[in-house]
Amino acid sequence: MSDCIFCKIVAGQLPSNKVYEDEDILAFHDIHPVAPVHFLLIPKRHVESLAHCDDEHAPLLGKMLALAPKLAKEQGLDSGFRTMINTGRGGGQEVFHLHVHVFGGGSHLPRL
Ligand code: 5GP
Ligand code: ZN
Repeated sequence: MSDCIFCKIVAGQLPSNKVYEDEDILAFHDIHPVAPVHFLLIPKRHVESLAHCDDEHAPLLGKMLALAPKLAKEQGLDSGFRTMINTGRGGGQEVFHLHVHVFGGGSHLPRL
């Protein structure tokens, strides 16, 4: 996916402020944070969105979600955090490489 900005971040062709990395997953701070702490968890392998996932992706998705609380704690989000996955244009997705938003900190988050 040569035109995918998150693939370029994975490949080191674009810079990012990394939070975590292993063989499958990269986490980095969002360039436009909506809260004092806001980072994104992405699979290193290009997957367009959650709508492009099936049973085969379950271990990867599980690993990403299980990492969220660990990384949130490391980033100082002791009182909690919000996770969000925007899927497709109708779901507000703007970057078409699957990502889990993790954000929090500050006084409060708006009610959904
Ligand atoms: P979406 O709306 O697709 O769920 O969220 C995409 C997110 O990626 C947005 O919060 C946006 O600020 C973030 N983003 C877009 N381009 C870049 C980039 O080049 N670097 C980083 N770190 N974040 C980005
Ligand atoms: Zn990609």
